[in-house]
This record gives sequence, structure tokens and C-alpha cells, in this order.
Amino acid sequence: MVKPVKIDVQKLQQGAETIVLDHSPKYFDLADGEDYEILGRIKGQVTFSLLQDKVLMEGNLDATFRMDCIRCLKKVEIPIQKSFSMFFIKKQEDYVEDSAVDPDEEDVGFFKGKFIHPDNDIRELLLIDLPDYPLCGDECRGLCPGCGANLNKEPCRCAPEQKPDEGAMEEKASDWKEKIKTILN
Ligand SMILES: [Zn+2]
Ligand SMILES: [Zn+2]
Repeated sequence: MVKPVKIDVQKLQQGAETIVLDHSPKYFDLADGEDYEILGRIKGQVTFSLLQDKVLMEGNLDATFRMDCIRCLKKVEIPIQKSFSMFFIKKQEDYVEDSAVDPDEEDVGFFKGKFIHPDNDIRELLLIDLPDYPLCGDECRGLCPGCGANLNKEPCRCAPEQKPDEGAMEEKASDWKEKIKTILN
């Protein structure tokens, strides 16, 4: 079992500390069963250095996720390869939210006491780039809501009278607009 990453802030006064990540998805609690899975291992390199009273964490992450296309449910591989940097600030007893740091402007984390436990932040950094609406491609035509045919591969099998017309919703909407216009006139 790999130990969680723990950075001794005081030790950073003697120099930066670099950590090599090579973890199974379980390490970050990224269990399957979410709307993503992880293929293979999560790799990266993270360096911690002291910048006055802040700790700078910078590095890169490399992992491959798998998600379902929201239109056709095909599995889509989503590689996440990113560089990042964020600061950790010591949370003082008298810390007030709106002090010098604007959390929207910089990526900021906090630590209490002598150690930084960055695993949660690293996990967030990985997940934040996942798409909300994964697609196998911009052109994906999805599944027919009537017969379930994968319209990327096969024609719709719906009987002609119940065939959901492509763009039917839009047409209906514009029909209505026309009708309302006639009524108003
Ligand atoms: Zn698709
Ligand atoms: Zn159909």
C-alpha cells in the first residue's frame, strides 16, 4: 500500500521536494462506478517549493479516463495530460475568507500545522478537466429515441408514422411561433 503524500513544510526551507507519482486509480480513491473509469495508472511529477510563506506545488499529471458518449453511449477514451501550479497557504486561526488571496484568481489550497497532504488536491486537478458532456465525436448522431438504433452505424428502424423526425422539435417550435403570430395579428 502506498502511503499518502505528506510534505513537511519546514523541510522545504532547505530546498524543493519533488515527488514522482505512479499510482493505481485506487490510490486516489478514483473507484470505478462513477461516470468515468481510469485506464492504467496515474503518473506525474510534482514539485513543492517554499515561496515566502506560501508553498508552491507545480508539476504534471498523466492519466487516461474512459467515459460514455452522452449521445451513443460508446466508450470514449479521454487522456488528461496537464501541467499545473497551485499554492498552499497556511490556514491561520484568525484567517478570514476575503484576505489577500482571491481564490478565483489562483488555485489555492490550505494547510494546517506542519504538513501538506496534497492527494485530494491532486485528485481534484485530475477530475476538473473531465468533460461534463463527453462525446465520441462532434458529429455523433446518437441513438434513435424510438428504436434505439445507433444512428452512426445503422438506419433508424422505426415505422414511418412513428419515426421521430429529425429536427421535429425545432419545426414544432417554429410552427407555434407562426401560429401565435397569426393569432396576435
Ligand atoms: Zn457518440
Ligand atoms: Zn428509430
